[in-house]
Amino acid sequence: MIVGAGMAGVQTAVALREQGWSGGITLLGAERHAPYDRPPLSKAVLLGTAAESALEVDFGSLEVELLLGREALALHPGDRRVSTDGGPVVYDRLVLATGAEPVMLPRSAGVPGVYALRTLDDAVALRPVLEEKRDVVVVGAGWIGAELSTAARAAGCAVTVVEAAERPLAGVLPDVVAERMRGWYADAGVGLLTGTAVAAVEPGGVRLADGGWLPAGAVVVGIGARPATGWLAGSGVALGPDRAVVADDRLRTSVARVYAVGDCASFPSARYGERLLVHHWDNAVQGPRVAAANLLGGDERYDPVPYFWSEQFGRFVQYAGHHAAADTMVQRGDPQGPAWSVCWLREGVLVALLAVGRPRDLAQGRKLIERGVRLDPGLAGDPGVPLKTAVR
Ligand SMILES: Cc1cc2nc3c(=O)[nH]c(=O)nc-3n(C[C@H](O)[C@H](O)[C@H](O)COP(=O)(O)OP(=O)(O)OC[C@H]3O[C@@H](n4cnc5c(N)ncnc54)[C@H](O)[C@@H]3O)c2cc1C
Repeated sequence: MIVGAGMAGVQTAVALREQGWSGGITLLGAERHAPYDRPPLSKAVLLGTAAESALEVDFGSLEVELLLGREALALHPGDRRVSTDGGPVVYDRLVLATGAEPVMLPRSAGVPGVYALRTLDDAVALRPVLEEKRDVVVVGAGWIGAELSTAARAAGCAVTVVEAAERPLAGVLPDVVAERMRGWYADAGVGLLTGTAVAAVEPGGVRLADGGWLPAGAVVVGIGARPATGWLAGSGVALGPDRAVVADDRLRTSVARVYAVGDCASFPSARYGERLLVHHWDNAVQGPRVAAANLLGGDERYDPVPYFWSEQFGRFVQYAGHHAAADTMVQRGDPQGPAWSVCWLREGVLVALLAVGRPRDLAQGRKLIERGVRLDPGLAGDPGVPLKTAVR
């Protein structure tokens, strides 16, 4: 049984069949829609250039029993049972794939004109905002905030982004790199208020902590997402302070026969020497292959080089690996130009790479990170030298 019919849940079902499992598979999902892909929600689906983003998986021929519009309410490992709003379901082995849910501002729920962007329903609800070219205030200058601003500007909306931190993507990228993104907002005609906290979202606008008022035809909250694990309370499945299911390097949870994949689970990374909670698409595709192998009696370790991409303000932004503040940064190319990369080296070894409009750097860098290759910082800093030849 798999709980959560997003990318990670679906990929688990597919991987189980690919790896030879011929027994039953039940896939339970709270949303009513056929399983779909989330990245297009802040891009083509929001703009209406794609109606939806259903996954091209034939559940019938895969013999996967799909229970949609069914929410898991509690887990009882003692008798291997999941309580759902449609009655109990008994499992032999269980995979947790409930993803994440958006963090909302206090007291914003139910205020008219306030939106989040996590589900297909959210994207469909937001479409008229763009079609009617309403003035949009986005709370949060993270990945979702940037993509949403891009789409809203493309639709002709006036957009203001309010960010409590001093710069976009603060805490995710070093200040010097994140600061460059401020210019991307300005070039796109998006107002960006950093160091500005929101006190309350009220009908018709946003009240700022300094007393200021921003009128808005719609407010979209993009301040992060948390693992959707509330239903596991009291089950014995260990959760971390970040609310993620604490999986081991085989993607097993603290409870026998229960595994966890995707946005809902953290795992220990031997590669980076710390526990990682990854909220990106690639992790929801790669983890399930390892979980499926282990469910079927294998002994595979999950230790990926994390990867994600973002499309914002006409730029293709990609990141592979994981860096820490102490790692050495090497700039490749003109940071004011349209295409550049940043490499992070730890004791000379490439551990992470950010590529803006340089997909070849990303492709080569990802392989070098996987292999733990030492780079010559001088060569790596020359954008004319292919990264794969910048090895020491
Ligand atoms: C708008 C948007 C744009 C994105 N763009 C990018 C991008 O460009 N690049 C990138 O790398 N990543 C992107 N991501 C992140 C990526 O989509 C996620 O990492 C990925 O969807 C995680 O998959 P998942 O299956 O773990 O979780 P989810 O996709 O969240 O799926 C979990 C499913 O479980 C269901 N569920 C939750 N609780 C229960 C329950 N108790 N019972 C039953 N079902 C339950 C939920 O309804 C949901 O359908 C984006 C995410 C969003 C929201």
